[in-house]
Amino acid sequence: MKSVKQNLNHIQSIIDQQSPEQNINMIAVTKYVSNERKIEAYDAGLRHFGENRVEGFNETFNLLADKKDCVFHFIGTLQSRKVKEIIDYVDYIHSVDRLSLAKEINKRASRPIDCLIQVNVSGEESKHGIPMDDLDTLIERIVDMENIHVVGLMTMAPINSNDEQLTHIFSTLKNLKDEINNKYDTIQMTELSMGMSQDYHIALKHGATMLRIGTTLVGE
Ligand SMILES: *Cc1c(COP(=O)(O)O)cnc(C)c1O
Repeated sequence: MKSVKQNLNHIQSIIDQQSPEQNINMIAVTKYVSNERKIEAYDAGLRHFGENRVEGFNETFNLLADKKDCVFHFIGTLQSRKVKEIIDYVDYIHSVDRLSLAKEINKRASRPIDCLIQVNVSGEESKHGIPMDDLDTLIERIVDMENIHVVGLMTMAPINSNDEQLTHIFSTLKNLKDEINNKYDTIQMTELSMGMSQDYHIALKHGATMLRIGTTLVGE
């Protein structure tokens, strides 16, 4: 198994090639790996950590919180009743995909939370995220929530998408971000959370600012 540092250097070199101008946050998705490997990721210089389950999130938070300079991302499907278990510790929630969840975050938070809206761009049934057609209505209802700070959009491409499909999905998400920014004075989204181990090289070409990488960075 390669060290996290070796993997990080490889991914960083691709970022430098594809997207030299953009400031990219690489999020280490640690859901598959041991605590030792999480510490190794920290020691390799990674500061953004992502988890897709509440239990894993809390474990990683407890492991790394005393280092003070980590940023904690919740990236998976979030049940409303579990919001209270992470709300005091989370820096970014990438998976806001329905009004009931936004309301719960707004109610439980004691400070504005940086949120991304997860959009189902591919239209694939099994994928989470709000359908594109419903995005406007959701945005309209959450712009005024005082503890929700909408900073961007997130999407997940279906596994086994080809390059053409990935290009379509990622460029569509970027267009949606631009349209919403133009439409609402109170929203200035800066983040596009897109790109995982298999497809980040393509997401980078379409304006990704946050990559969520597990397998090829820290391992499976
Ligand atoms: C697991 C996961 C990732 C990372 O997946 P890899 O293919 O291992 O890079 C990214 N985003 C979400 C939402 C995930 O659950």
